[in-house]
Amino acid sequence: MTIPPFAAGTTARAVVDLAAVTHNVRALRGHAPTAAVMAVVKADGYGHGMLPVARAALAGGASWLGVATAEEALALRAGLRDVDVPLLVWLLAPGAPFAALVAADVDVTVAAPWSVDEVAAGARAAGRPARVHVKVDTGLSRNGVAPAALPDVARRLADLEAAGTVQVVGLMSHLAAADEPGHPSVDRQATAFAAATDVLHEAGLRPSVRHLANSAATLTRPDLHLDLVRPGISVYGFSPGPLLGTPGDFGLRPAMTLQARLAQVKDVPAGEGVSYGHLYTTPRDTRVGLVPLGYGDGIPRHASGGTAGPGGPVAVGSGDAARVLRVVGRVCMDQMVLDLGPDAVEREGDVVTLFGASDGVADGATVPNAQDWADAAGTISYEIVTRLGARVPRVHVHEGDHE
Ligand SMILES: *Cc1c(COP(=O)(O)O)cnc(C)c1O
Repeated sequence: MTIPPFAAGTTARAVVDLAAVTHNVRALRGHAPTAAVMAVVKADGYGHGMLPVARAALAGGASWLGVATAEEALALRAGLRDVDVPLLVWLLAPGAPFAALVAADVDVTVAAPWSVDEVAAGARAAGRPARVHVKVDTGLSRNGVAPAALPDVARRLADLEAAGTVQVVGLMSHLAAADEPGHPSVDRQATAFAAATDVLHEAGLRPSVRHLANSAATLTRPDLHLDLVRPGISVYGFSPGPLLGTPGDFGLRPAMTLQARLAQVKDVPAGEGVSYGHLYTTPRDTRVGLVPLGYGDGIPRHASGGTAGPGGPVAVGSGDAARVLRVVGRVCMDQMVLDLGPDAVEREGDVVTLFGASDGVADGATVPNAQDWADAAGTISYEIVTRLGARVPRVHVHEGDHE
C-alpha cells in the first residue's frame, strides 16, 4: 500500500486500504469456492467505513452484503443505488421499519416468533412480498428462533408464502465458537442446522440460500460453507482468532493503519510520574512523546502501561531509529504518552503508527497489528478496529484500484 502524506491540519487518521479489502474478499472466495460470499459491513464496516468497504468487497466478488441493523441496511441501499446486490439485515426489534426495508428490497430476517406478523404487515404496506431468511438458534442462545418454536414459525411463514405475502429465501444460523479450533459446539450446531432445514421442508418451505459460516468457519470448515458464507472480520484482513492462524496464514491483508503525529516531545527527569495516577515513573532522565489519541477515539484504556502490564505498542522513528515502544501510564481521553528514551531523535509532528501497514513509516521496524493492541487490552481485534471513534478521520486509499 502507498500511504499518502498526512494532510495539513490532520493530527491522527486511519488509512483504509480498499485494495486490501478487495484482495481479502478474493481470498475468501478462494477459501469457499462453492459458496457465494456475503461481505458483512455492519458497524460502519467494522470501523472502516461501510460504503467504501462495500464497494471494494463487491469488486472482489462478494455477491451479497450483510448488516445488523435496519438503519445500516437502509443507509447501505441508499448509498448503493447504482448497484443491484442483495442485502440482508438480521437484528431487528419490534417496531423496526419493515415496510421501508421491504420497499428498499432488503432481505429481512425472522429471528423470533414476534417478527412474522411485523414482516407480513411490512410487506402489505410496501405492496410487495418480503424476502425472508429464517434465523434459527442452533446453540448460540442469542438471537434466532428457538428450535421448539420453529415448527410454528415455519407453518405461519408457509401460510404467508402461499398467500404471496412473503418469500422464504434463506435459512441461517450463527456459530458460537468456530474461532476455537475443534470446539465441540460447532458440530452440534451443524447437526441442529440440518434438523432446522428438515423442519422448514416439512412445512413446505424450500429456502435456497442456507448459511452458517462466519469468518472462522469460512477459513477452517469447508463442510459448513453451504450456499453462502458470511465473513466479517476477515474481509478487513484480520484473523478471526489468534489460535486459528495469522492473517498471513489465510492470505489476508489488514486494511487499516492507525497513525498520529507527536503533539509534543519533551525532556522529563528521572523519577517523575507520567500521566493520570502516575502508573509509570521515569526510570532515568528521558524524553517523552505525546500521542494525540485516547479512549475518546476508541483507544482502549485497558491498554494503559503500568502496574497491570505493558501498554499498547506504537511504532516510532524510521531507518536506524525505527522501533516499537509501549504506551507508558494511563491512556487518557484524548492522549497518551511514549517514553522515547534519552537519546530520542523524534520531533514534534513526527508520525507514529499504532497498528497497520509499515510503508513509509517506521521503515525497518515491525509495525504492530490490531491483534497486538487486542492482547494489550485483553480484547479481540474486532473491538480495536470497530470502536475507533468518529473523531479519527478515515482516509480511504486505492479506491477503485482492484489490482
Ligand atoms: C457479525 C456477524 C458475522 C460476521 O462474523 P465474523 O466473525 O466477523 O466473520 C456473520 N454473521 C452474523 C449473523 C453476524 O452477526
